[in-house]
Amino acid sequence: MRDIACGRRDVLRLLAGCVATGLNFKAALAQPPGRGKAPLRVRPPPRYRPMIVLDPGHGGIDPGAIGWDGVYEKNIVYPTAQYVSRQLIATHRFRVAMTRGPDEYVALRERVARARALHADLFLAIHADALPNPAMQGLSVFTLSAKASDREAAALAESENKDVVEGVRLSREPREVGAVLIDLARRQTDNLSIAFARELLVALGQDVALLENPQRSADFAVLTAPDIPSALVELGCLSNPAEERRLRQPAYQQRLARGIARGIEAYFVISPPGESTSDPVSSTPVESGRSSGGRCPRDDKSRRGHGCASIR
Ligand code: ZN
Repeated sequence: MRDIACGRRDVLRLLAGCVATGLNFKAALAQPPGRGKAPLRVRPPPRYRPMIVLDPGHGGIDPGAIGWDGVYEKNIVYPTAQYVSRQLIATHRFRVAMTRGPDEYVALRERVARARALHADLFLAIHADALPNPAMQGLSVFTLSAKASDREAAALAESENKDVVEGVRLSREPREVGAVLIDLARRQTDNLSIAFARELLVALGQDVALLENPQRSADFAVLTAPDIPSALVELGCLSNPAEERRLRQPAYQQRLARGIARGIEAYFVISPPGESTSDPVSSTPVESGRSSGGRCPRDDKSRRGHGCASIR
């Protein structure tokens, strides 16, 4: 079964790449074996180390959210991503790359492109948000939703998708894929992304406060790679004075990084590279010290009236 699952995913990945790069589906499928430029990988090597791409938000001319006491989001998320990288590298089980350097501005489209060029097995965007209510605090994790699941998530997605140089919102690019296979790839990626988000929250919820209903979905441009399981973590609320102070502290950033690294390790235990996943929605609910995460339905309709709607 492993070979079958692996082969299917690799075919889906190839086809997803064809669509993303504008190549012809039928031409790709019609090529005789061995003639294509991107040979299919039958199975991961025995000591295959998954490629983790970390995407610290903002940078350069884009400071991101500005905290209660003036700290810039870009200066919180970059060192935290570095700590995550060190944690993962220390395990000798992963390869790690970052989408940007210190205080480098990288457009949203380019972040996704860099991850795809690296053949990422997993993509994690790292952010810290600012909410209208300064009393709100806690960490949350987002996966992609075709439609922002509530007003707050929509506003946040709009903010995070703002491309200050090119004015490009990747999420508004045409998503017409023209083939059932690409839909399957998207669906499988979505399922894996949800599983990843859940593992992150289980690991992080042991050490840090979570936002109420911390597993969420929104239309983030950086989560749109069709073939890379992706999530976006909001480390906390810079709009909350106490949480801003915590987020400034290297010790707290390291605690967050340890939790993220544990979540990534746990994800690859349940979803080894090249294998499909079972229905993640029916797995163990996320528990938080502050609230019960419970099941996180994927569809927006079922979330309405609770969860993110409590953020006012
Ligand atoms: Zn951000």
